[in-house]
Amino acid sequence: MTARILDGTKIRDEIFAELKQEVARLAAQGVRPGLAAVLVGENPASQLYVKSKIAACEQLGLASWLHTPPANVTTEWMLQLVSDLNNDDNVDGILIQLPLPAQVNSKRVLEAVSPAKDVDGFHPVSMGMLVSNRPGLVACTPAGCLEILRRNGIAIEGTSAVVLGRSDIVGKPMALLLLHTNATVTICHSKSRDLPQIIRQADILVAAIGRAGFVQADWIKPGAAVVDVGTNKVTDAAEAKRLLTNFPARLEKFAKKGNVLVGDVHPDAVNTAGALTPVPGGVGPMTITMLMSNTVKAAKLRRGVAATSENSQPAATAR
Ligand code: NAP
Repeated sequence: MTARILDGTKIRDEIFAELKQEVARLAAQGVRPGLAAVLVGENPASQLYVKSKIAACEQLGLASWLHTPPANVTTEWMLQLVSDLNNDDNVDGILIQLPLPAQVNSKRVLEAVSPAKDVDGFHPVSMGMLVSNRPGLVACTPAGCLEILRRNGIAIEGTSAVVLGRSDIVGKPMALLLLHTNATVTICHSKSRDLPQIIRQADILVAAIGRAGFVQADWIKPGAAVVDVGTNKVTDAAEAKRLLTNFPARLEKFAKKGNVLVGDVHPDAVNTAGALTPVPGGVGPMTITMLMSNTVKAAKLRRGVAATSENSQPAATAR
């Protein structure tokens, strides 16, 4: 069996097209959703992420603002900035790019963001809304995973779903989203016993642990849907060979580039799973997509603008 590939780029394009229409409808009502991004210091990876997020806003016609405090910023200064953004009526979403420098109390800063503008879905109030299945802003990566399943017509209700990883930003919200979609959910973590046996029961597996190729192909129930959140940069030639023996083209690329991105699921799982998100090109593109979706959703919720139609309520969607 060769798995159907669940292409995240295609779904991103679909959702972007829907969001563009929604933004145009909101513009006709005098509303322009806006995202304020806060990028502290000069971490190149963070700079790249924020640049992509601002570019996505521009592509969709959302307003965006970039705040770039220096690396030696204090917690108090950050709290004042967040307070200003909370009070700015043009700002619908506030994004604090992580990680923050060690001297800044990240928890205090993140918790200072108004839950109404918490487009990352990290605030305890957002998490509480998710636990109680009430409308709110859901963390972007798990919301994106759910969109991938739904938009590919993968049945969730009544299935056995396993979520590997229990972080606050991926594993836990993912498990709750699946639970609210009526799956029977098992959450696994580093202390779980008999992982292969648990995973073999899964009709749907979401892997989010940050270990390259950890889930072996023969742990996957034949025909299962697999969502691989892991994005692990492999630089060791022996490891690349172990993971990609059956993918000579990817090995060749590794030889040229010196690194390759591999998920938490062994690439050979493509021969066991029924459907599988590729790495890269699966969950990756969905995170920024859902950030955009959350910004539009936050604008509508906060400004009391009604959704126009069922189909025009893209993504974030689920709830
Ligand atoms: P995290 O905060 O480090 O959490 C990792 C989770 O995996 C923890 O719950 C940990 O268990 C569990 N774990 C680690 N090793 C394990 C093992 N050997 N067996 C079973 N469970 C194990 O990571 P995260 O932020 O959730 O991210 C997970 C992965 O997703 C990373 O590769 C990250 O790069 C990727 N990611 C991708 C995107 C994207 O846009 N594609 C977005 C976010 C994250 P304990 O709780 O017991 O420690």
